[in-house]
Amino acid sequence: MANNENQNSKITRRSFISSFATFIVAAPMLLSVRNLFAAKEVPPPPGLKPVEETNSIANAFGYKKDASKVDASKFNNYKAGNNCSNCRHYSPLNEGWGKCKMMMALGPVTAGGWCKNWAKK
Ligand code: SF4
Repeated sequence: MANNENQNSKITRRSFISSFATFIVAAPMLLSVRNLFAAKEVPPPPGLKPVEETNSIANAFGYKKDASKVDASKFNNYKAGNNCSNCRHYSPLNEGWGKCKMMMALGPVTAGGWCKNWAKK
C-alpha cells in the first residue's frame, strides 16, 4: 500500500516535471506567435509632432487616435470602419500617419484615427 502511494507520488512528480518542461519550451514560442499578430505601430514622420487628443481643437472635433475608441453615443455620424485613411480630408505621409486638412497646423493624424469631420473620399 505505502509502496503504491509512493509510486503514484512519483508519477505525479514526473508528470509535473514533464508539464513544466513543456511550458518552458512552449512559452517563448507562444509569445513569438503572438508578436507576429500584434499590430505594428508606425512612428510619426521624423520631425513632426502628432496631433494630441487633448489639443483643444482636436478635442472639439472629437478626434481619437484610434477610431475604435470613439464614443458612438456622442457622435452619431461615427460608423465602424470609418477612419482618417478613408476620409476625404486625409493625405498620407507614411503607412500610419497623414495630414488632415481640418487640422493641418496641428501636425499629422493617425491613419486609424477619426473625428466628427470625417467625410467619405
Ligand atoms: S477630418 Fe478626416 S482626416 Fe481629419 S481627423 Fe477627422 S477623420 Fe481624420
